[in-house]
Amino acid sequence: MYNQVVRMESCGICNEESEKGFFLLSIWICLSCERKMVELEVEDPSYAWYIDRLRGSKINNRMLSH
Ligand SMILES: [Zn+2]
Repeated sequence: MYNQVVRMESCGICNEESEKGFFLLSIWICLSCERKMVELEVEDPSYAWYIDRLRGSKINNRMLSH
């Protein structure tokens, strides 16, 4: 599903630098955010916030590539 790697990246969700996490749609997700996302229910308001963060990062990447 995803490759877990060890490196320092800035998390696309919380912006914290973490050496443990994984890439989701080219966005680095730290382990603590991963755990939160796994625990979240779709009905949870926080879930929509996470999805928004992911969408926002995707849009930013597209803008930067122009
Ligand atoms: Zn994070």
